[in-house]
Amino acid sequence: MLIPETSLWSATAPPLKSFAHRPLPAKADVVVIGGGYTGVSAALKLAKHGAAVTLLEGETLGWGASSRNGGQVLVGHKHGVEDLVRQFGKERARELYQASIKTIECVEQIIEEEKIDCDYVRCGYLEAAAKPAHFDSLKRAQEVLERDFGHTTRALPKAEMKAELGAEFYHGVLVDERSGGLHPAKFINGLALAAERAGADLHESTPAASLEKRANGGFTVKTDRGSIEAKEVFVATNGYTGKATPIFQRRIIPIGSYIIATEPLDSQISNSLIPNRRVAFDTKNFLHYFRLSPDNRMVFGGRAAFSPETPNTVRESAEILRREMIAAFPELRDTPVAYAWGGTLGFTFDLYPHAGQMDGLWYAMGYAGHGVAMATFLGQQMADRIAGRGGYNPFEGMAFPTMPLYNGKPWFLPLAAVWYRLLDLIS
Ligand SMILES: Cc1cc2nc3c(=O)[nH]c(=O)nc-3n(C[C@H](O)[C@H](O)[C@H](O)COP(=O)(O)OP(=O)(O)OC[C@H]3O[C@@H](n4cnc5c(N)ncnc54)[C@H](O)[C@@H]3O)c2cc1C
Repeated sequence: MLIPETSLWSATAPPLKSFAHRPLPAKADVVVIGGGYTGVSAALKLAKHGAAVTLLEGETLGWGASSRNGGQVLVGHKHGVEDLVRQFGKERARELYQASIKTIECVEQIIEEEKIDCDYVRCGYLEAAAKPAHFDSLKRAQEVLERDFGHTTRALPKAEMKAELGAEFYHGVLVDERSGGLHPAKFINGLALAAERAGADLHESTPAASLEKRANGGFTVKTDRGSIEAKEVFVATNGYTGKATPIFQRRIIPIGSYIIATEPLDSQISNSLIPNRRVAFDTKNFLHYFRLSPDNRMVFGGRAAFSPETPNTVRESAEILRREMIAAFPELRDTPVAYAWGGTLGFTFDLYPHAGQMDGLWYAMGYAGHGVAMATFLGQQMADRIAGRGGYNPFEGMAFPTMPLYNGKPWFLPLAAVWYRLLDLIS
């Protein structure tokens, strides 16, 4: 099987104009490093506050995870609600959950205010039980959500699941109505144009090579096209964090995630598979996530390899994902796969996002695959913070952990992969 290594989203978004080869300013109030949802939404808000903001992106705007993801705009966090309560107690857990709802409101508000055409629909999500026992934990999560967080979801056992998910492979679903789905590349392109309209100075093909603290405050940001004196620097490089900011490289674990998209489906088939067109994911550690695209393809993703994307890992993952998609949806046995691609997630050692200021540098990162809404939200909130206009950071005060001897090269991933596969086997 020969599958083109191209992202469906890049192939189906109108091309964004180029922001390369523009003259760099000598000075800026704020330099933002990284041109994904975090960086661009921060640049948008900073420009609206009247700051002289320059954004540096090493490749093209949205080149990282922000144009390659599943487009699932999700409430909740990587940690499940029972975990949140166990770790933080009811009150703080409720606060963190409410923050995740605010992230969706933020995405919806930006889309509306900036009139971003990105196929956004508040379609809700399905969490599908990969094993019979996993449905019990979905039922418990539903109870915690209702009782402790005032958030209504529905847990449907396998016998009643068909109205939401036509896949015998699964053992019941949790249905949340609050989440949404969008076209990731159209969203980041729309954000970039909104930031430019607001006055942000955007630069592609301009990696920040190094940062130096200035004696009288602020930083000099060096690139191979010149240096910028910045009063403040905001680091928004998530899974692609590199040696320009070793302090964050030591705290972010880059992990690959891969997606395939089929040819468009007959509407009778798609209606039978995901009747309400909700976005979906399952309960495993090595989880699958899937949805119908706006042009009615099955988009099916997962952590088929742990390492970040290369042509080899994309090819291998495409084969694995196709087999796994057919196991879940045998109806798609003869449907050709039209696109396959991968991207890099930014995990942290405690699986929570982190934002704040460290060693003088502002940052927001570590979304662990839940970044469409959270990255957009934290970009805006940290922009408020930098501009001295408040800014709400749900993760305020949480230490941003690293590990002795870790320098950004995750040698332990093969071991972690074995461990999580084992957990999936025995859970
Ligand atoms: C395959 C895949 C599927 C996903 N699915 C979902 C999903 O369905 N729902 C969800 O909520 N989340 C999902 N995510 C996660 C989500 O996409 C990310 O959390 C989010 O896009 C992070 O945005 P960001 O701006 O922080 O980082 P990114 O979009 O990764 O942007 C970081 C940017 O920094 C740039 N950069 C790095 N170093 C430098 C430097 N020195 N100088 C200049 N630029 C630099 C990179 O080139 C990159 O463009 C998925 C991720 C992947 C990879």
